[in-house]
Amino acid sequence: MKIKFIMPMWPKESMWGKMGSGIPSLSLATIAALTPPDIDISIKYDERSPINYDEPLDIVAMTGMTPVAKRAYEIAAEFKKRGVYVVMGGIHATLMPDEVSQHVDTVFVGEGEGIWEEFLKDFKNKRPKKLYKNEKLIDLTKSPVPRLDFYKGLDPLGIFFPNRISVTKEMGFFLPNIIQTTRGCPFDCDFCTVTKFFGPSYRYKSYEQIRREIESMDRTRFRGNEVFFADDNICCNRQYLKGMCEAITEYKLDWYCQATASVAEDDEALKYLEKAGCKVFFIGFDSLNQESLNDIHKKHNTVKKYIDTIKKIHDHGISLHGSFMFGFDHDDISVFENFLEFAHKTQLDAAFLTVVTPFPNTTLFHRLNKENRIISYDWNKYDISTVVYKPKKMTVEQLQEGYYWMFREFHSTKNIFQRLYGHTPSYRINIGSNLAFKIFGGKAFPKQKNIERFKVREKQACPT
Ligand code: SF4
Repeated sequence: MKIKFIMPMWPKESMWGKMGSGIPSLSLATIAALTPPDIDISIKYDERSPINYDEPLDIVAMTGMTPVAKRAYEIAAEFKKRGVYVVMGGIHATLMPDEVSQHVDTVFVGEGEGIWEEFLKDFKNKRPKKLYKNEKLIDLTKSPVPRLDFYKGLDPLGIFFPNRISVTKEMGFFLPNIIQTTRGCPFDCDFCTVTKFFGPSYRYKSYEQIRREIESMDRTRFRGNEVFFADDNICCNRQYLKGMCEAITEYKLDWYCQATASVAEDDEALKYLEKAGCKVFFIGFDSLNQESLNDIHKKHNTVKKYIDTIKKIHDHGISLHGSFMFGFDHDDISVFENFLEFAHKTQLDAAFLTVVTPFPNTTLFHRLNKENRIISYDWNKYDISTVVYKPKKMTVEQLQEGYYWMFREFHSTKNIFQRLYGHTPSYRINIGSNLAFKIFGGKAFPKQKNIERFKVREKQACPT
């Protein structure tokens, strides 16, 4: 039997479509590891080169978030025309199983472990079902070591141009080594898909399992010693986190992870993280407006503490990449300038800047839908940079244009230099991240004329 796993590409005109994937899919590598060895499998990144629809295959299996859904349906249609059995799982399939089932033969809802093996047995017996769903959250200690051997590193010249290099490096990634130590998040913020997909209870891999995964990685390749921790919130259980840090210190990794701002409240945890080689925190600050955070049920973030949070993390030699969304109901046009001033004042190393996006079936989506504020159901536009709903205190045009302006401004050469020069803990990753956004955001987002309209703030104290 021959199976091809395909990661469909983001809309070509979006920034992510232009930038390409720097970090590979852990879910495809995990599903590959669950596939019996007598089955011939391969992984294909749609963005890297054209798909050969005439390749003889038994099954095509896809995954992906909402922005790739329409492309996934195109791919499914081509393979189905040729008699190939097509299946899809992942976040969009879990949020919208009825829609996805109109385009593919089988849909997977939720985590893949358990139901993938069940499907393969049913397929061999010529009785595959239309839908597979784990009734319970899986036991993470039984998850296999992901097949990262499918992914390669990039050569030094390819650092900032994964798409271009991938013409010859089909499976080359900026950070090919990836791991996930925990799943789940109890907070269930209104916009987020994590609790919907992985559930509210926090589950862990054993330390032994984590060591096995690290030892299975090719750490000799270019940037092989740098590892991305794909946990959505690595700091939910501090005791576990400290033990995990102790378990991996001996490998002398440089690693990057995602956490909530509350991690900075635990000095001891920061010491463990620093000692274990953590180099970058990606933190979902999301908004500089406490009312907006309260509205979206992200009350565990306290805006007044943000400056202190960033300083504490910097003091431990760890860089801070902040995630911020623009367009919440309490955001007016001053939100862009406020953010730029905050970023300058805190010397934010890098940022993940998006417009608020109501992914289907999230709490936010249902609320905006009920209020008749969603202006597009075209999933290609849910690329986290395009406004798809009517904001409350701005027009759609003001939010869209203001976002473009702020994004370009944050990544201007002058601003990058001012934020990073002389202090940033990890120059290479921070400069790389800023330049990637500058280059690809610059290609995707139009330049704004009449930018004075966004400079509405009187000189006043930073919002925090
Ligand atoms: S945004 Fe972060 S804290 Fe909120 S539910 Fe998602 S992962 Fe959890």
